[in-house]
Amino acid sequence: MTTTVALAGSTGSIGTQTIDVVEAEPERFRIVALGASGRDVASLAAQAARIRPSVVAVSDGSRLDELKAALPSCELRLGEEGLASLGAEADVCVNGVVGFAGLRVTLATLSAGRRLALANKESLIAGGPVVAGVRRTPGAELVPVDSEHCAVHQCLASAPDREGRGADRVQRIVLTASGGPFRGRTRADLQSVTVDEALAHPTWKMGPKITVDSSTLMNKGLEVIEAHELFGVDYDHIDVVVHPQSIVHSMVEFTDGATIAQLSNPDMRLPIGYALAWPDRIGTAFGRLDWAEVGRLDFEPPDLEAFPCLGLAYEAGRIGGTAPAWLNAANEEAVAAFLDGAIRWIDIPDVLEAVLSRHDGGRAETADDIVDADARAREAARRALAAR
Ligand code: MG
Repeated sequence: MTTTVALAGSTGSIGTQTIDVVEAEPERFRIVALGASGRDVASLAAQAARIRPSVVAVSDGSRLDELKAALPSCELRLGEEGLASLGAEADVCVNGVVGFAGLRVTLATLSAGRRLALANKESLIAGGPVVAGVRRTPGAELVPVDSEHCAVHQCLASAPDREGRGADRVQRIVLTASGGPFRGRTRADLQSVTVDEALAHPTWKMGPKITVDSSTLMNKGLEVIEAHELFGVDYDHIDVVVHPQSIVHSMVEFTDGATIAQLSNPDMRLPIGYALAWPDRIGTAFGRLDWAEVGRLDFEPPDLEAFPCLGLAYEAGRIGGTAPAWLNAANEEAVAAFLDGAIRWIDIPDVLEAVLSRHDGGRAETADDIVDADARAREAARRALAAR
């Protein structure tokens, strides 16, 4: 039986790698809907011409005429609502949208009772309390595409949840971090790093926003919150270890001291294929490990002084409510300012700390609450940025 796939964020890094997986297994998967911001009309039109989906959605309709001309035989949907509507179009929706804009896709997919293959961690981090509610929709499933959480999902399969007791047997989750391009540098060494240096990730091929987040360790901090939201483990039982080879994608330690880890080459097509096929496995391997070539696996503690973003994420996670939404929004603004050359890399954690200190403890019960919290945090971030 063919699994139908809706792909939100099709022109980004997760989107193009999802197309690779689907094209490697054409008997198993078929893309029926594509969605993107719509700013890169040429790429989206080329994808649609090759894949021939029945629906194409764009969140930004400013180049609608060009799109209509390029995609004459597709149903075009517009705006954030149009993009979110993809969630109900297929058996699985891959959410590869960048940043907070992915929240509506996450909510729409789960409330339609479909499987969400989630690569947009920001929606879960910012909207955690609201996403938790819609995850209870009959038929709704959330399979993480983020490599660490996909690893934890695989490790937890060794502790089947009989009578809901699976989580009781987990002692801790250990998330691995590559350490990014600046691993081993001190705070003093990091005063003048450039955008190009921050974008040169040693092991993973990813989009610019997440690559900068990896360089600050904010990506790992956001993943700590993501792990808490996904697996219901408290922050005292989620640890981070730096593992520069990016072969061990994360681990679960159980109450008896046994640790289960998931290992593979660092290639996002594995977690994408896992989330599409779960509980089955795809037959295509995008690279297999050669143990003699791997040789050794190293582990070291993260440097919280050189990379304060990781500690800030634990702080926001423990506050809970809208604090993770505030941190996420501030981070998106700060990273955009860094990529624009408006602030230095070293300023990013200072901006986040300033914004978090103004967190107003607003409600986090509905999607609108989250959108409002996000807007207030961005306003606070813009003020913090302007004050620099
Ligand atoms: Mg990750």
